[in-house]
Amino acid sequence: MATYNEGTREIAQEIEARLLENPDYSRRLGEFGFIELEETWGDETTILNTARVSTSNRRLRNLSDLTEKDKNLLFHLLSQHHGTPFETVYFRFRFIAPIFVLRQWVKHRISTWNEFSMRYRKPISAYYVPDEKALTVDGFPVLTPDQIERYADLMERIFAFYEAEYQESCRRIDQAASEGRLPGEKKDPAARNPYRARARELLRSAMPVSAYSDVYWTVNFRSLMNFFDLRTKENAQYEIREYALAARELFARKFPLLSELYEKSGSGPE
Ligand SMILES: Cc1cc2nc3c(=O)[nH]c(=O)nc-3n(C[C@H](O)[C@H](O)[C@H](O)COP(=O)(O)OP(=O)(O)OC[C@H]3O[C@@H](n4cnc5c(N)ncnc54)[C@H](O)[C@@H]3O)c2cc1C
Repeated sequence: MATYNEGTREIAQEIEARLLENPDYSRRLGEFGFIELEETWGDETTILNTARVSTSNRRLRNLSDLTEKDKNLLFHLLSQHHGTPFETVYFRFRFIAPIFVLRQWVKHRISTWNEFSMRYRKPISAYYVPDEKALTVDGFPVLTPDQIERYADLMERIFAFYEAEYQESCRRIDQAASEGRLPGEKKDPAARNPYRARARELLRSAMPVSAYSDVYWTVNFRSLMNFFDLRTKENAQYEIREYALAARELFARKFPLLSELYEKSGSGPE
């Protein structure tokens, strides 16, 4: 485990707080991973009402008004891949995941991302270490405990490298500033220090893809189903599958009927 820098300790405390405040809709994944379903917009009635614009004037105000006929229509829309009504319901997840997982996740282009920036902050100083299940295929260990120890040792050295080099740059910048040797003037006193920022920009290139990042992900239900379909399958990489399964579980908790019908329909959008 890397020594957490101050920002990372704050994030770790925030995760603890979120798990306590919103236990039904948040999950820890491994040592530093996390996912929370923070907010949703719309529900089954939104899907039915928007779908009916072309066929009838029946509109539902509350979920409790849903009849068997409505449920059948919802199932029909799902199984016949009527795409756009499912684009009217939105979800915002927050997740903290290794960068190599985010590289796969961000390929789901029909969604909105806001991500932690190593230009503005030092990296999150936590890295992914494969858990026991991740280390084996059909019970066969593809990496041994010795290998994991060497891997962890390398990660420690990379994080220590970042910290040492960043501190050295900051010392040189501060020294030059105190001696009036820094070129250029800081026009806006509230603006970030461009010298430290450039040091962060350059040094972040040394960070491994096992480093964690923090994302707000806003996605409509059609795109979310596509994500579930592709990333909960056996052929998806274990690490992103763990997040997709957790997201799927949080969705099902929030929308049990929609989840049941989606499951029964056997597939997501086309
Ligand atoms: C097992 C697995 C292995 C993968 N391997 C690789 C890999 O080796 N390299 C790699 O780069 N990616 C890889 N991917 C990512 C994959 O190619 C998709 O980019 C990713 O799954 C997102 O799917 P999507 O395009 O359907 O999602 P979104 O980008 O969210 O798009 C949703 C839907 O919108 C439509 N759409 C979006 N953009 C366009 C467009 N430009 N033109 C037309 N229609 C569009 C499509 O119907 C699409 O299905 C892999 C995915 C999986 C599940």
